[in-house]
Amino acid sequence: MVNYESVIGLEVHMQINTKSKIFCECSTQFGLEPNSNTCVICTSQPGTIPILNKKAAEAVIKTGLALSFNINKESIFARKQYFYPDSPKNYQITQSDPPLCSKGKLSIVIKGEEKVINITRIHLEEDAGKLVHEIGSRKLDYSLLDLNRAGVGLMELVTEPELNSPEEAFEFLSELKNIVEYLETSECNMEEGKMRCDVNVSIRPVGQKEYGIRVEIKNINSLSGVRDAIAYEIERQKKVLTSGGKLIQETRLWEAEEKMTKSMRSKERALDYRYFPEPDLVPFELTDSFIEGLCKEIPELPRTRKARFIKDYGLTEYTASYLTSTKIVADYYEEALNYLKDKKASSKLLANWISTELNAKFNVSKISISESPVSCQNLAKLVSLILDGTISGKIAKIVFDEMFEKSSDPEKIIKERGLVQISDKLIIVKMCEEAILESTKAVREFKSGKEKAIGAIVGLVMKKSKGQANPQLVNEILMKILKT
Ligand code: ADP
Ligand code: MG
Ligand code: ZN
Repeated sequence: MVNYESVIGLEVHMQINTKSKIFCECSTQFGLEPNSNTCVICTSQPGTIPILNKKAAEAVIKTGLALSFNINKESIFARKQYFYPDSPKNYQITQSDPPLCSKGKLSIVIKGEEKVINITRIHLEEDAGKLVHEIGSRKLDYSLLDLNRAGVGLMELVTEPELNSPEEAFEFLSELKNIVEYLETSECNMEEGKMRCDVNVSIRPVGQKEYGIRVEIKNINSLSGVRDAIAYEIERQKKVLTSGGKLIQETRLWEAEEKMTKSMRSKERALDYRYFPEPDLVPFELTDSFIEGLCKEIPELPRTRKARFIKDYGLTEYTASYLTSTKIVADYYEEALNYLKDKKASSKLLANWISTELNAKFNVSKISISESPVSCQNLAKLVSLILDGTISGKIAKIVFDEMFEKSSDPEKIIKERGLVQISDKLIIVKMCEEAILESTKAVREFKSGKEKAIGAIVGLVMKKSKGQANPQLVNEILMKILKT
């Protein structure tokens, strides 16, 4: 039996997060009436001249800088010639050599070990339109053309063939998505097609230097889809080779429902796109100060921020990962923390409330943190009310439910519903004495040395007080009574 290793390279398209398209003033808004978002330039009328949206180039450069790329201060646009009905010009404006960014890298962590993946390039290009073959569930026997997406700016990132498993590809894309979301250069929303990934997969006997024959898989629209498609493809290729068959260089499609790849077209003869310099656009000339300016706009990136959260706020790896998984959650946390007087004393409790209670609410109600009915200021208030003993953790959950439901202020809820924690010793002593009389069994156990038995009595006091007794005081008082 031959032992095979897999070799994977990715081509990732990300829609650049600009308000208007790359060469005209049309909006990039998603989901508008078909063809309402078009003009003479993006519908490719003869005689029109494209003008570059500077913001689109800036986004690509920023992304490149964040991934340690060399920025090519002189790069040009090229025409890539091909006919396809979703692109009326019959060519795409893209970049060939040199691209805006060359030779970058991104490190991923696999089973606790860091692995650096080299990235060949990032270039700037325009998107094509979309062919529509069904309306709702009705399949058409003709094609409709929607040019709303034509001319939307894309950045295409191409990796070296240095990924060696479905998990590594998954990690790479998750990490990339995370960073780009922090940079806000693309929304990377895969469901809306704002991040698309083509996957190249080959296998070779372990120890062999030359690469095997590669297959390119298109049409994958989720991160788990990428992982599943690669895993399927590796197995398929192994089967072909071990049964004495031959692989061909081809493009395959991922069928998400059937969970398999299917051949789309052979790629044995490479297409000649006849690239030539785009005559309607001038070459780029970037100055050092322009690039330095963009460098300064790069925010703290997720991995650095996570390390800082662990170090400065005493969070666990797990909680810090959750909080930095998107910039908006991390910002929410730090903004809430700013409302708290004693950051050191409250950082962990606040982090736990966000990663457990608030997160659970978002999952159930299917809303995202940007729409959170609980403002960071109100959550901070809740945490400080727990810390100063006004309410117990248990009561806080009741208050929190109402905060989430009605977007209200925790202090107001506590006042209205009389939920203030009982810390009056005389009241608690009375409740404790009652509870002791009603818990003969637990008291007997306690006296015979089983100190844990006190838990049942504490529970009874909490029940009597409707959860409002200060649990720490209850514990102390019970101990005192029982030990004398
Ligand atoms: P194309 O334009 O035909 O897709 P590229 O040269 O742009 O070709 O390469 C595309 C991707 O294929 C790159 O991500 C590269 O890392 C990857 N790749 C190249 N050779 C192999 C191989 N033998 N196995 C897996 N991936 C490969
Ligand atoms: Mg390709
Ligand atoms: Zn337009």
